[in-house]
Amino acid sequence: MEVCRTVAELRAWRRAAGDVGFFPTMGALHAGHRDLVERAVRDSEAVCVSIFVNPTQFGPHEDYRTYPRDEEADLRLLAGVGAAAAFVPSVEEMHPPGDQTRVVPGTIASRLEGAARPGHFTGVATVVTKLFEIVRPTRAYFGQKDFQQLRVIQTIVRDLAMDVRIVPCATVRDGDGLALSSRNAYLSADERRRALCLSRGLFAARDAFAAGERDPARLRRIVEGIASEAGRLEYVSVADPMTLAELDAPAESAVISLACRVGRARLIDNVLLGMDLADLS
Ligand code: AMP
Repeated sequence: MEVCRTVAELRAWRRAAGDVGFFPTMGALHAGHRDLVERAVRDSEAVCVSIFVNPTQFGPHEDYRTYPRDEEADLRLLAGVGAAAAFVPSVEEMHPPGDQTRVVPGTIASRLEGAARPGHFTGVATVVTKLFEIVRPTRAYFGQKDFQQLRVIQTIVRDLAMDVRIVPCATVRDGDGLALSSRNAYLSADERRRALCLSRGLFAARDAFAAGERDPARLRRIVEGIASEAGRLEYVSVADPMTLAELDAPAESAVISLACRVGRARLIDNVLLGMDLADLS
């Protein structure tokens, strides 16, 4: 596996690479990331994975400095599953001195995570656009775990006619239901036990939906009743999966998303109801 640290190195690798699948990450890779890389490897002649903890998508009081980093373990994992290149740029490489251009997504980025974390999606959109421009992938893989991010990226790709196919990938969970996340490393054993209430709440709403419940307020209350045991719930949203606008009337498809503080971790999770992930575009 080639480890590229500069744009020039990555471009030199890219020229010889053919059809490329790309998976952008912030590192601290876990079994969920591994699943997506494996899928990309199955689909592509060559897979490039970026590892970049992007400072511009963190707020001033968020966990940029303490975000888990383990480059050696990450590179070992990527080589082990057959990635052809790892792109591991420095902050200066991605944001050269004086850099001043930003990609600002529209209303889809103003809700939920965008409301809770002002500027977050501008940071995400700018860095992903730049990574696409550097890597020029045929396909790029994004996890349902960050559902709004997936929809923001799909919207940008459509709006700007970017020549890349976005491949949405289902959330990978531990056997007990907890969504895998690099931030789970912040949890004590007791906090991890409590965090299970998040997926339990979402699954209870999914079961209610399967049994015919369509009222968004009742679905929200089902989630809140269980998930609030995990910690301090920031929001529970029952929204249209395409626009992420809150539903105020029964609908045949919905995405239920939540964010919750559990100890010092801020965790997010979601379930998609009434439609397939593959149908999103
Ligand atoms: P991150 O490194 O957390 O920024 O995530 C990089 C990519 O991996 C994003 O597209 C995430 O949605 C995806 N991802 C992270 N955790 C999971 C998971 N448990 N299941 C599926 N995709 C995930």
